[in-house]
Order: sequence, then C-alpha cells, then structure tokens
Amino acid sequence: MRSITTFQLQYAHRFYGFCGEAQYLHGHTGIMTIEVEDCVNEGVNMVFPCNEIKKIAWSVLRNFDHALILRKDDPLISAVLDVYEQQGIMDGAPQNQNIGPAFRTELADAYPNSRLVVTKETMTVEGMIRLTYELLRDKLNIVKITFTSGDNSASQEFGPHKSIPRCPYCGVALNEKGECYKCGYVKK
Ligand SMILES: [Zn+2]
Ligand SMILES: [Zn+2]
Repeated sequence: MRSITTFQLQYAHRFYGFCGEAQYLHGHTGIMTIEVEDCVNEGVNMVFPCNEIKKIAWSVLRNFDHALILRKDDPLISAVLDVYEQQGIMDGAPQNQNIGPAFRTELADAYPNSRLVVTKETMTVEGMIRLTYELLRDKLNIVKITFTSGDNSASQEFGPHKSIPRCPYCGVALNEKGECYKCGYVKK
C-alpha cells in the first residue's frame, strides 16, 4: 500500500542555452507528489503519516522554495550574487528564515542563505525528480515521484528497497535503537 503527499514549491529558473522562451529567467509553482510504499503499520493502520512524509521532504526541499535554481555554468549566477552582495542579502537576511540544510550532492548544491540552488544539469521537471530521489531515498521508502510545473509534468517509479520499522502508536519511523522520537515507544 502507498501513502501519498503533495506540496508546492515556488521557484525561478531558466534553461541556459535552450532554444526557446525558457532561456529567459521565469518562475513557476511546482507541485511535488511523493509516494511511499510499505506494509500497513498495524496499530495506526497506515503506511506512513502523510504529514510526516511532508515534514521530512520539506526539511530538505524548502531550499528550492522561493529560490533561484540555475545550472552551474550559467553566468546569471555571478550576476545575481553580485547584486545580492551589494544589497547585503547574499549571506542571509532576517526575513530569510525558511532555510534547510546546505546540502551538496552529485546533482546539486544548495546555498540557502542566498536562496540559490546550483544544479549540474538544467532544472527540468525530470531533473527535479532525480534530485528529490537523491536527497530523500535514505529517509523515505519512495516508490514514485511526480513533479508538475506549468504545462510540464514527469513521473518516475522506483523499486521499494526495504520495510521501515514504525511506531505502532504514531506511525513515524523508529530510530536505529528502535525508539519513537514522538511518544518514546521502544521496540522490544
Ligand atoms: Zn520553467
Ligand atoms: Zn510513537
């Protein structure tokens, strides 16, 4: 069975070097859908609490929200950062609070203080799915990701890797010691 969560990401990007309007800087509301599969956790009678999937995903993906997403060879990166620096917001601002961990992966580097994500490849809906899976595969049993942005949409299925032990009272994943971070339940 699957538990499914959906949330929005507002972002700006462009397809550097692409022959079309998308080579100009523009923005989207992206809709991210993440499907998690496992057995139904008896006790709570659910696969995984959807608000917990959203919380785990959002803790990392919020770096993409109200962010500028540019490919690493795009000259706009230095142009924009020059302006941010002159304005004094490159290394953060009191109003820049929706900050996740400054991750660095094979596919992208996040600079949350500047609300910038620098990607290896052009950030298409397909690219966003690959990035999301890379960032969350160890945290959630993801079997499908769908990302829709404007008229563009893509989805990818992934094989289930393992069953995650969950709390029979809260439904959340237990830590390595078999403890629930919410209610303190310990698996015997
Ligand atoms: Zn676009
Ligand atoms: Zn619990």
